[in-house]
Amino acid sequence: MSLPYFNCLIVDKFPYCYSKLNRVKYSRAHLFEVDIIILHKNLRLEDNSALFYGSLNQNYKIIYVYDSHYWSVDGRSPRQFSFLLDCLKEVQSNLKELNSSLEIFEGSYQDLSDFIEINYPQSKIHLNHSTDTSYYRNQISKFKDTFKGSTRLKVYEDFGIQTEHFNRDRWSFDWNKQMRKRLHDLPKSNLFDQSKDLMEFDCFLDRSKKNIQKGFQQGGTKAANRLLTSFFENRSEGYSKKMSSPHEAEESCSRLSPHIAFGSISIREIYQKLEAHYPQSNFKKDLYSFRKRLYWHCHFIQKLETEPAIEFNSMHSMCDDLRPLENKEFIDRWINGETGFPFMDACMLYLREKGWINFRMRAMIMSFASYNLWQPWQSTSPLLGELFVDYEPGIHIPQVQMQSGVTGINLPRIYSVNKQSSDQDPEAKWIKQIIPTLNDIDPKKIHSADLHTTYISPVVDLKESSKYARDTIWSIRKGDEFKKIARSVYHKHGSRKRS
Ligand SMILES: Cc1cc2nc3c(=O)[nH]c(=O)nc-3n(C[C@H](O)[C@H](O)[C@H](O)COP(=O)(O)OP(=O)(O)OC[C@H]3O[C@@H](n4cnc5c(N)ncnc54)[C@H](O)[C@@H]3O)c2cc1C
Repeated sequence: MSLPYFNCLIVDKFPYCYSKLNRVKYSRAHLFEVDIIILHKNLRLEDNSALFYGSLNQNYKIIYVYDSHYWSVDGRSPRQFSFLLDCLKEVQSNLKELNSSLEIFEGSYQDLSDFIEINYPQSKIHLNHSTDTSYYRNQISKFKDTFKGSTRLKVYEDFGIQTEHFNRDRWSFDWNKQMRKRLHDLPKSNLFDQSKDLMEFDCFLDRSKKNIQKGFQQGGTKAANRLLTSFFENRSEGYSKKMSSPHEAEESCSRLSPHIAFGSISIREIYQKLEAHYPQSNFKKDLYSFRKRLYWHCHFIQKLETEPAIEFNSMHSMCDDLRPLENKEFIDRWINGETGFPFMDACMLYLREKGWINFRMRAMIMSFASYNLWQPWQSTSPLLGELFVDYEPGIHIPQVQMQSGVTGINLPRIYSVNKQSSDQDPEAKWIKQIIPTLNDIDPKKIHSADLHTTYISPVVDLKESSKYARDTIWSIRKGDEFKKIARSVYHKHGSRKRS
């Protein structure tokens, strides 16, 4: 479990908590047919289906559900919560102009459905679909069941994900269609002053202050737009090459990932701004790579949406027996940046400090845990997820599986830490910045982790562990049964673009 201390801090009930509401409000039947808009991840006013449609009658309440259990499940962490608070703060400030404000419901979705049924029995409820892990999915499924058979609950599709009529063959077509749809207008103003029968946002913010972690990326739509503009105007120059190096990528990648994950900007808005900017850009090749990644974002999330069990099981069922044993010492050294391989450790220390690292290094970090340390991905994946401000289970889990060789449909790629070290940081300047104790050491020795007593001794032998991993993975991949299962994985999850 990721955040025991976080829970302890926030577990005491808020003054306007659900149980108190039970007493204060439950006897009162609400007269108005209010629209209730529930926010989970799409934390913006622009291009927000639930907010737009929910505001049309101009008599609406906006609720963010704070469920402390959700914030303590695998992969979640205070750095993500801090980003969320930034987004909510900005939403709250913008809502004032619409004579509206955020209210916080503390509790589960089950509690929320009871609250709505008793207090707002005639309300319509508006919610954007979110692909998330099992805890949220189960909660939301029970919530939906409460309103089954009535037309009160409206759930809106989220970006390019097929939630019904799943069909991989027309996925790409649907995605493009979704991206080209007109953006929603801003929500309409509230004509009625809504009764504040839930916790006010400022009170929630005050109570949450002790959980804020500073020093990570800033949330909110303004920050997202600033990043997008600077990326289009200059930062994207050389993006397609620079994205591989951890020190160049910090500036040259869009850095929009947490904004896309929390929805402080819609992926459709990014896509449409990209299409508008593209013809006049001097960096067309780079922006073409960026566009592909917007597509991948949804392509990956679709996998978790289609098969939620991949949160726990490998996509290829024969791969779950590969790594039966967990070595706690190996995992601790890996996640704390103490493997004895300077480049690997520098990447982990950088990620711990910044809450972000580029794709190539994420892949190498995961490959090291799964191939060289031979650890089950189910044990390492949540620990890594906690470190990302942009944690998006729908991308994270399929990527983790891909870099661990357990999908059956991607060729196993074992990254060589030593090669990445000399390719991405030939002079070892970046490594030395992060691990200053290596300042006087010859870069060659750093790349080969040949450091004897000057650094932590390597946790495994790189060559031997890579060979063991390669032999073991390929020995199961050769069989007919493996290939048969792999075909069905491809049918369900494979990109048709490659076929
Ligand atoms: C093991 C592993 C775990 C990962 N976990 C996450 C995660 O939890 N959240 C997350 O957003 N990304 C994850 N990624 C994908 C990728 O590394 C990040 O999206 C990217 O580094 C974010 O930086 P950026 O916004 O500057 O990306 P850019 O290069 O500017 O790309 C723009 C956007 O495209 C999407 N994108 C980019 N690369 C990928 C990719 N390979 N697969 C799917 N979508 C992509 C993201 O939404 C990203 O914000 C993971 C990759 C690996 C190998």
